[in-house]
Amino acid sequence: MAIQAPEGTKDLLPGEAQYWEDFKRIAADIFARYGYALIDTPIFEQTELFVRGIGEATDVVAKEMFQTLSGENLKKLIAGDPVKSKSRLSLRPEGTAGVVRAVVQHDLVPQGAPPTKLMYAGQMFRAERPQKGRQRQFNQIGVECLGAEAPSVDAEVIIMLMRFFEAIGIPTALTHLLINSLGCDECRPLYREKLYSYLKDNAAHLCDECLRRAETNPLRAFDCKNPACATAMENAPKMTDCLCASCKEHHEQVKSYLDASEITYTQESRLVRGLDYYTRTVFEVQVSEGLGSQNAIGGGGRYDKLAEEVGGRPTSGLGFALGYERCVLALQATGFEFPPACVCDAFIACVDTTVQGVAFSLLQALRDAGLNCEMDHQNRSLKSQFKLADKLKATLVFILGPDEVQSGKVKVRNMETHAEELLDLAEILQADSKEEVIKNIRRYDSIWQDKKPIS
Ligand code: AMP
Repeated sequence: MAIQAPEGTKDLLPGEAQYWEDFKRIAADIFARYGYALIDTPIFEQTELFVRGIGEATDVVAKEMFQTLSGENLKKLIAGDPVKSKSRLSLRPEGTAGVVRAVVQHDLVPQGAPPTKLMYAGQMFRAERPQKGRQRQFNQIGVECLGAEAPSVDAEVIIMLMRFFEAIGIPTALTHLLINSLGCDECRPLYREKLYSYLKDNAAHLCDECLRRAETNPLRAFDCKNPACATAMENAPKMTDCLCASCKEHHEQVKSYLDASEITYTQESRLVRGLDYYTRTVFEVQVSEGLGSQNAIGGGGRYDKLAEEVGGRPTSGLGFALGYERCVLALQATGFEFPPACVCDAFIACVDTTVQGVAFSLLQALRDAGLNCEMDHQNRSLKSQFKLADKLKATLVFILGPDEVQSGKVKVRNMETHAEELLDLAEILQADSKEEVIKNIRRYDSIWQDKKPIS
């Protein structure tokens, strides 16, 4: 049997691979308006980074990491010899830990400097059970803002995320923004205690996993999909009722900035998100169509302790990650199709094989001038060449026959209007920019004056 792609992975075929490039460009254009610059960190990092940064007890670290070793170290491990901690590597399950590691390593936020705003795009890896909207290799775009504590920055990041979803065409009516605050080192431990007692008091209604979570990270009990646990958690104490004065003030201000920007959101006290590093603001965007249970298309929050966890000086930070594949599923639910992989500006058709040499020179001249061009390389009949031009959705077809070549001309057909003109071949061959070619075509052509044959 032919070898298939590994379970939970997906090939991005030409139309989609091109769209992924467009998707990243739209994100980079929008995020640049907010001051974000691209960063690209390794796809694998020391396992220790994720253990310290994301948290040992999280599902992502405890169950879902693809850990990797070089061949030499694998042999050592099998032989029972020690493998250095720095040689134990993992494919990145998310982007934040790697970016914060890079910020600390390269001192990108020197003391007293303005915030550093970074964005990334690329593959993440989690050994989850694959299902619709949940893959083992998936693409994320994310941003991280390091060195900013102000609530206006939290609001700015959330607004930027919502603007991006709008820009790619996910209808605002289908998106739901949930926000919450998880407090800080001062108020969260007290809340944890309260929640722990609640979980213990309600142990009879909770699943074994939630009882385990009560010991390691009680907040995660809010994420349990078990209906009995969800019901039991409805009356659990709320973090927002236990915030200290400064976290409360921060949270209220984030919301007032969102209100002022007319961003609709729901305050959701059960929103805890899966990773340990969050402090204060957390948020998630869900869609109501196309995704089933994996309905979160993006989310993030503040992580004021993370830089210290990975060995840096105290540096506040926040960010989000959005999932490319889930955005595509949400778009497809509204009828979206991938744009054509390649745009064909012009196709060169040969009446017979004697003109193929001139056609080849014309093809290269048009390509050198910046047009996307194609010709037949399989000696097809003229009729079949036109069929091919149709299939490629060519805007123009240049038709070359022995008579045209003899008189130094080429016939050009506009495939939309079917208008045809005879153009001077030498002028086109000499044109050295797309604009010049277009000008040459238009100069001869009264019919196309007000049309746009080539975009
Ligand atoms: P997270 O890093 O878990 O906060 O995820 C951020 C976003 O990445 C989610 O909202 C999803 O859109 C996407 N995502 C997370 N895990 C997966 C996965 N296994 N497969 C596809 N997309 C994912």
